[in-house]
Amino acid sequence: MPRVTADVKDIGLYINGEYGPAENEDIFEVTNPATQEIIARVSEATEEDVDRACRVARDAFENGPWGKMSVAERSAKLRKMADIILERKEEIARYDAMDVGKPYEATVGHEVARAANNIRFFADFAEKQGGETYPMGEEFINYTRYEPVGVAALITPWNVPFMLTTWKLGPCLAGGNTVVIKPAENTPLSVSLLGDIAKEAGVPDGVVNVVQGRGDIVGNALTTHPEVDLVSFTGSTATGKRILKSGADTLKKVSFELGGKAANIIFEDADLEKAVPESIKAAFMNSGQVCLAGSRILVQRSIFNQFLEKFKKAAQDLKVGDPQENGTDMGPLVSETHYNKVTSYLEIAEEEGATLICGGKRPELPQYLSDGYYLEPTIYVHENSKARICQEEIFGPVVTVIPFDTEEEALHIANDTDYGLNGVVWTENLQRAHRISHHVRAGTIWVNCWFVRDLRAPFGGFKKSGIGREGGHHSMEFFTEAKNICIALN
Ligand code: ADP
Repeated sequence: MPRVTADVKDIGLYINGEYGPAENEDIFEVTNPATQEIIARVSEATEEDVDRACRVARDAFENGPWGKMSVAERSAKLRKMADIILERKEEIARYDAMDVGKPYEATVGHEVARAANNIRFFADFAEKQGGETYPMGEEFINYTRYEPVGVAALITPWNVPFMLTTWKLGPCLAGGNTVVIKPAENTPLSVSLLGDIAKEAGVPDGVVNVVQGRGDIVGNALTTHPEVDLVSFTGSTATGKRILKSGADTLKKVSFELGGKAANIIFEDADLEKAVPESIKAAFMNSGQVCLAGSRILVQRSIFNQFLEKFKKAAQDLKVGDPQENGTDMGPLVSETHYNKVTSYLEIAEEEGATLICGGKRPELPQYLSDGYYLEPTIYVHENSKARICQEEIFGPVVTVIPFDTEEEALHIANDTDYGLNGVVWTENLQRAHRISHHVRAGTIWVNCWFVRDLRAPFGGFKKSGIGREGGHHSMEFFTEAKNICIALN
């Protein structure tokens, strides 16, 4: 039986500026994946609660002050939100460490700062953004306005709850929309704070609403709701397909960031001093629960053994442990269901004849973590890139190293996937870096680096990794309607 922590949190739905219970007062429990202790009791929204949140958001959009405010005034409130996020960074990072199991130290130092910047960046961006004019001689003039779309549903995943929600919320609010947010059901803690943060920053009631609960009920109620105009979703490809179907009847505008199976290609002229530690991060950060993970490492055969030896040593040096403790590199997997899914690939790998290099079992841990969903950093070698472990998104600390001989072969393997979110290339040859970057079919290519994000740059996937792009003006285009106004001058 799960134990209950001393300070179990009660989390309500945030609708119209207030936290409150679900209309039938149902709750669900959230556990800490490192210990299986119950850490929160969360109000579980019903379809009626979702309906109320959507109507409140609609009313705030149509009749409230948010859309009518000057851009400067709106942006000032968003910058205040960013300041409050930074003031509360320890609390936010503690919450993410508690329900996701992600290391506190990295979250407080990087992710929460990035979350604040997501809001601040789009506040600034909206203020600086211009429109277009299309002169038509002496007879007419055309110009463009970017107007809010209406009510947005932001549906976010459990791996990076707070940062990914703000990545959508910043441009959504900066564009003048109102919003209903639905975080993942196993990681509701940090996102629930956004109601409070918006209120303290002076965002009018009804503009930001947060509903909690399961995807197939609460998420589905949002994606079918007639008052919701657009859906920005990050999550699995399977759920993306479902949302596309459920949003069809009400013709919702969508932006999807879905799964990935990135190739991390290491050529013989790569600087291994940099390639090894970055490949470790790309494989095992957040226990590999990252859509951008470099989970297929393609290594040129001439340096294969040299790379593998260094990579294995670095993986074994990672400290797996309590996410709340400083110095922990890797925490547990997020839930029992997910642990079962990830570890099922250990059997698949064995059946497929992959060679296990290290990991593949639970690490030795202190007694209080013995119920946690832990898996050691796991490395396989496989020659066949068609194997399931090379094709399917495992979303855990399991990486496959695949040898190749020529550049052509590397490209073929890299593109032999349904996904196309990102790719990584390690080479000191400039021409090769460009050639490979042009030909890998993915939304982002990192050369001699990984996960370097400039918020102006487009972010999203080719193929089954997504629909649309977010980032800079791409986000603003998604969260606004472009209107052309044509005026006769005579
Ligand atoms: P995973 O399968 O790894 O849990 P999901 O893509 O299912 O990832 O989850 C991402 C987000 O999508 C979560 O907030 C989840 O609750 C939500 N979700 C899941 N199913 C649906 C659905 N049918 N409609 C809308 N949202 C959903």
